[in-house]
Amino acid sequence: MLKVMKGRNIDVQIKMTANLLGANELLAKKNQRLFAEKGALVINLMSSPGAGKTTVLERTIEQLAGRINMSVIEGDLYTDQDAVRIGNKGIGVVQINTEGACHLDAGMVEKAYGQLPSADIELLFIENVGNLVCPAEFDLGEDFRVVVLSTAEGNDKPMKYPLIFRQARAVILNKIDLLPYTDFDLGQFREDLDRINPLAEVFEVSGRTGEGIDNWIEWLLKEVEKKKSAVKSY
Ligand code: MG
Repeated sequence: MLKVMKGRNIDVQIKMTANLLGANELLAKKNQRLFAEKGALVINLMSSPGAGKTTVLERTIEQLAGRINMSVIEGDLYTDQDAVRIGNKGIGVVQINTEGACHLDAGMVEKAYGQLPSADIELLFIENVGNLVCPAEFDLGEDFRVVVLSTAEGNDKPMKYPLIFRQARAVILNKIDLLPYTDFDLGQFREDLDRINPLAEVFEVSGRTGEGIDNWIEWLLKEVEKKKSAVKSY
């Protein structure tokens, strides 16, 4: 729908959006200090709905069990289904329901972090609300962002949603086992992503079969160690 607005209304709307983002920035900085004090690596995990964030997390928890103290903050519009799945894997999890909001913000994460059961978290995942647009605008105080894309969604997504892909430290291409049954063009995807974000790490995985998860885990463990040594030398 095309909405025609008069000049003053547009000014008010721009100011409100700027204030909202500004307030979030301050809280994100506060979260960043809090996470740094604890030495925990914090990853903001983003994707569209159904790309497989929770399944990738389940696989990650299985691989890291007994090696890393990991917790998850789950963002969802209304349900706690993903938090139940994560909780069943035996790690600390807190659910945030945004009640319709299309992204998490730093204030929500601050509250949830305070409710996590373990004090010695080495790795914290924040699973954002499934959306390729809104979550990209809101810093949560994370160390970096990881985007999950599935082969079923098509290879055009980096070009269509460049912001979220540009900001990602790593991109997990999930459902790689379904590649033969889709029109997903792996070469085009790599080429487009390279143009938008040449530094992004890319992991081709299947959360369902476990294919490629090893490479992701190996990289993740290195990042956890990097964060720890950065905190020690601080
Ligand atoms: Mg999920």
